[in-house]
Amino acid sequence: MAEQPTGGGGDCLFCKIIEKKIPSKIVYEDEKMVAFEDIQPQAPVHLLLIPRKHISGLLDLQPEEREEISHLFLTLPRLAREKGIAERGFRTVVNSGKDAGQSVFHLHVHLLGGRSLRWPPG
Ligand code: 5GP
Ligand code: ZN
Repeated sequence: MAEQPTGGGGDCLFCKIIEKKIPSKIVYEDEKMVAFEDIQPQAPVHLLLIPRKHISGLLDLQPEEREEISHLFLTLPRLAREKGIAERGFRTVVNSGKDAGQSVFHLHVHLLGGRSLRWPPG
């Protein structure tokens, strides 16, 4: 991932979404994270949960980012409930690197639900 930007701001699409320089449908935000609707939803509910802090991906996670990550995952069930997918079930995905098709190098958790999801994924 060395070729990807590691600093915040700059060229990072999701940093721009956080800064509201690029419009998005934000469903939740606080001092540590933002959740917004994916522009190309793959399910009736498809949110992206991101830390405000620019972290390129799982491979770049540092111990001092513990708070950001745990907060994001602790908020996720609340968003699932608010979106009405908690009862039926939902899927959370973090794509990492080329084989997984990661296309934005600001750590994000996909939250997908509202339809039956196949396994294994494609
Ligand atoms: P990845 O493929 O890196 O796991 O996920 C990136 C996700 O970001 C994709 O699902 C893609 O549809 C979404 N995405 C890309 N550009 C934008 C954008 O400008 N706005 C929003 N809301 N989502 C985006
Ligand atoms: Zn970023």
